Amino acid sequence: MTTWTHQHFSVKNKMQIKENVKSIRERVDKAVASSPFPLSEPHVIGVTKYVDAETARQLVEAGIHDIAENRTELFLEKQEALSDLDGISWHLIGSLQRRKVKEVINKVDYFHALDSLKLAQEIEKRAEHEINCFVQVNVSGEASKHGFSPEELEEALTSINALSRVKVVGLMTMAPIDATESELADIFGKTYQLKEKMRALKLPNIPCTELSMGMSRDFETAISNGASFVRIGTEFFK
Ligand SMILES: *Cc1c(COP(=O)(O)O)cnc(C)c1O
Repeated sequence: MTTWTHQHFSVKNKMQIKENVKSIRERVDKAVASSPFPLSEPHVIGVTKYVDAETARQLVEAGIHDIAENRTELFLEKQEALSDLDGISWHLIGSLQRRKVKEVINKVDYFHALDSLKLAQEIEKRAEHEINCFVQVNVSGEASKHGFSPEELEEALTSINALSRVKVVGLMTMAPIDATESELADIFGKTYQLKEKMRALKLPNIPCTELSMGMSRDFETAISNGASFVRIGTEFFK
């Protein structure tokens, strides 16, 4: 993946990070203002998988208090390295192998990639408290993407509802890397509709009020379509 070239980003670019945070905040505000939905400010998650812990620290110091990693090892490493900082919400955003659940699940504030019933059952088994999860939906239908299809979602959520430690706070989706603006609007709009439909089921462990969607290249379109959590990496560290 070309994005990995960012991993050598250096700590000397501290001012640049501050600038990037400011400019992303402005773009987020603008997208919120122009959205047809009555939105509250979305959570802006800083994805630090491309950078070292010291650079991630600078992002926190620049005001980003939601931090995400996509792999268990990197998640644990960053969390340990930044354990002196208060008030960070920790997000695990990548697909999680079942055998790794026990190492990490009790340390995450939000898990964004719940993509199978077996994984949900493993979380139920290992969790020491209720875990906030986003259920991943493959709305674009790309074979390479994880997640439930829109058609299987209701049945899956009904099963997950029986688990007492898996709380489905919302849905997560990813758009294809080469999606056009109108395809993005279609995918994010459909995900919003699905979220509303699942919320209306009123299943006790499935509040399903949140939407995790939008990355560096498409967060504005995601916000216009109701995203409440955007996951941004590249744009913070360019
Ligand atoms: C890397 C990653 C992101 C951030 O991607 P950027 O394009 O760098 O903003 C968001 N979500 C997931 C699941 C990721 O793995």
